Amino acid sequence: MSLNTLNRYALAVELLSLKPRISIVAKETGLSPAILRKAFVEMHQRSPSSGPIRTSPQFMSKSFSKFKEATLCAVFFRLENRRHCARRVINGYRRYCSYIKSVSNAYPLLDFSDAWTISKWLDVGVLKLVRCSHCRSAKLINNELEHNVCCVCKS
Ligand SMILES: [Zn+2]
Repeated sequence: MSLNTLNRYALAVELLSLKPRISIVAKETGLSPAILRKAFVEMHQRSPSSGPIRTSPQFMSKSFSKFKEATLCAVFFRLENRRHCARRVINGYRRYCSYIKSVSNAYPLLDFSDAWTISKWLDVGVLKLVRCSHCRSAKLINNELEHNVCCVCKS
């Protein structure tokens, strides 16, 4: 087995530990969804979440807390200056989760699949991370969210 193949399996195991949608792991590693699904069940003793990956950032603006955490997630991705996209999402998502756990007793509102989608949207420019013109805090925008008040000014 080549090093490249081994690396793909190692990445798959790491991604699977974060309980993502199987389609995301298949996309990132090129491994077959059937193999990945089997490994997921072995690892978590349950089936992976099914259904399509989110296609619109609207899900974040449904709740203020969710939007706040999406902004936080985006900030953590930006701090990761690695080339490899999957690695950036994994590290950014871990930092986000440990931050949420350190400031509150609650579970993070975003799962890994949400975080992965947000990072993809940031990469292609569907979402942008800018500074609020009032308080200079990080603000997450897209065409529809552009005129929203930033999370810090709003709270
Ligand atoms: Zn502000």
